[in-house]
Amino acid sequence: MMPVNHPPSERLLAYATGAADVPLRLLLETHLSFCPACAREVGRLTAPGGTLLEAVPAEPVPTGLFERIWAEASQHEPPRPVEGVPLPPSVLAELPPAEDWRWHAVPGSGSRTARLVSEAPGGCGLFLVHLQPGARFPRHAHRGGEEGLVLAGGVWDRGRFLEAGDWGSAPAGSSHELLADAKEGCWALIREECEDVRLSGWRGVVQRLAQCHSTR
Ligand SMILES: [Zn+2]
Repeated sequence: MMPVNHPPSERLLAYATGAADVPLRLLLETHLSFCPACAREVGRLTAPGGTLLEAVPAEPVPTGLFERIWAEASQHEPPRPVEGVPLPPSVLAELPPAEDWRWHAVPGSGSRTARLVSEAPGGCGLFLVHLQPGARFPRHAHRGGEEGLVLAGGVWDRGRFLEAGDWGSAPAGSSHELLADAKEGCWALIREECEDVRLSGWRGVVQRLAQCHSTR
C-alpha cells in the first residue's frame, strides 16, 4: 500500500539540494523507499543538475578504475537487514549495527526508543521507536519539532491512523500521545529537534530523575 501522508515539499527540496542534515536525510531516504510518488518528485527536483552533468563532455575513463571501485566495494560487507524493521540498505549502511543500538524503555508504557544518530550535542537526533501491540506512548511535549514515519505496523496520532511509509510531524511546543495498532504494534523512525522530549505526569518525574543520574 502507498503512503497517504507525505513530507512537505520544502523537505523534499532540502533532500534534493543536499541541504538536509543527516537525520533528516536518512528519514527522507526511508520515506522514498516506501513512496514512488515522492521519489519521482525528488527526481524532478534534481533533474536540472542531472541535465547539467549530462552536458559535461565525456572524458576517457582511467584504466583500472572499475577494478579499483569493485575491489573497494567488495571489502565492505552489505549491511545486515534487521528483522521486522524495514529500513532500506542505504540507510542501514549509515547506522551503527543493530546490536549497538541502546534501547531505553519508557516506564510502564510498552514502548522503547533508541537514538541512532546524533547530529550535534543538543542538536537534532534520529530515533527508532518501538511500540508493542496496543501500547500507548504517553503524552509528551516537544521543545523542538518532531517529524518521522511509520516503518511497520500502525499508530494513532491526534485522530489520524498512520501506516507503513506515512509521514507525520508535531510542531515545536506541541504535545501528543501515540497509540499503537492493537495487533501489529508499531515501528517508527523519528527526527527530534533539540532532543528534548518531556514526558508528562509521573513518567516525567522518573525521566528527570534518570537524567540527573546519567549526568552525574
Ligand atoms: Zn511520499
